[in-house]
Amino acid sequence: MKTIFPINIFKHCATPFYYYDIDLLRATLQELKSCIKGVPYKVHYAVKANANPRILHEIKEAGLSIDCVSGGEIVAALAAGFKGDAIAFAGVGKTDHEIGLGVNHDIFCFNVESLPELEVINEIAATKGKVANIALRVNPNIDAHTHEYITTGLSENKFGINLEQLDKAVDKAMSMPDVNLIGLHFHIGSQLLDFKPYEMLCNRINELQDHFDARGISFKIINVGGGLGIDYDDPDGNPIPDFKGYFDTFKQHLKLRPGQELHFELGRSIVGQCGSLIARVLYVKNGTKRNFIIVDAGMTDLIRPALYQAHHVAENITSTSTETELYDIVGPICESSDKFASDEKLPSTHRGDLIALRSAGAYGEVMAMQYNCRNLPKSHFSHD
Ligand SMILES: *Cc1c(COP(=O)(O)O)cnc(C)c1O
Repeated sequence: MKTIFPINIFKHCATPFYYYDIDLLRATLQELKSCIKGVPYKVHYAVKANANPRILHEIKEAGLSIDCVSGGEIVAALAAGFKGDAIAFAGVGKTDHEIGLGVNHDIFCFNVESLPELEVINEIAATKGKVANIALRVNPNIDAHTHEYITTGLSENKFGINLEQLDKAVDKAMSMPDVNLIGLHFHIGSQLLDFKPYEMLCNRINELQDHFDARGISFKIINVGGGLGIDYDDPDGNPIPDFKGYFDTFKQHLKLRPGQELHFELGRSIVGQCGSLIARVLYVKNGTKRNFIIVDAGMTDLIRPALYQAHHVAENITSTSTETELYDIVGPICESSDKFASDEKLPSTHRGDLIALRSAGAYGEVMAMQYNCRNLPKSHFSHD
């Protein structure tokens, strides 16, 4: 399913803007749901990938639950119509106010990342006369072999509770009157295309469950987080991620206990391919060594290339030229890292052409900022 850009409409839109292919989002959600039919699996959409209200609406309509990492995301989820009991709340640095918000809305679960946090949740729940559901986030010490900034499951990482301290944390949680320990939570990294780390995670969870079985302790849920990647190099060839292969890995390798539910927190894989950043070409500058396309979008609109050396396929969606050239595509921001691509092969490009930076639905619009006193990008949808 190829994204078709409505060029005639785009020509009248102020640039830069995000364009979301709602048909592709719906097809992605359909495929995801078809893979978890008949198994006790539940998917929470990770709002941090994209909090655009229109996108949240589609995801809520599809019946997914939601994963938040801040109080602001809880507010956005509630505004989009998600109920408190659909919300999982993760994050290493939850403030008292954010915890209070979660307790007030009787959220499904706090994913707890440290012992001191556990104590604060217990205290805040007590003052409100409530019992908060919690899962302990375990750092499983698995190398997801992804970019160092987006690997989260190694023991030297800031996330989660180390395996050595897990028994103590479980005992502590079980002894507290105002928290209810319902599960264990894991998240090993992002943009994973190889399923081997997930298989290793399943084995680690099986060991842990055996260990706790022997101690007579069982959990209502296991939450394996998110991280399934998308094909940034071929958005039209692979518009929908390999959900089947991903879920099959868990079906094959993870031994759920009777009545136990397996929860997932997927972000990028749900929204990544449905979004593109559309920019207008301001100037084409022919240097002595390189040709530059200077567009009106910058790292303030899409920071992934500057932040993670990420590459988004760039397409000239208005050129009809049959000749191609190599270009560097850069933005207007006063930073050398404000560059989308080097040596990108594009048809001969001119001032006024429109460039689509593909696969920008996840960690794109949500990370936009106003550096250089710029406006935030607007968004348009295939179904307005
Ligand atoms: C970021 C994050 C996710 C979502 O990750 P994706 O790679 O977008 O699927 C899920 N769970 C937690 C705890 C996260 O921090």
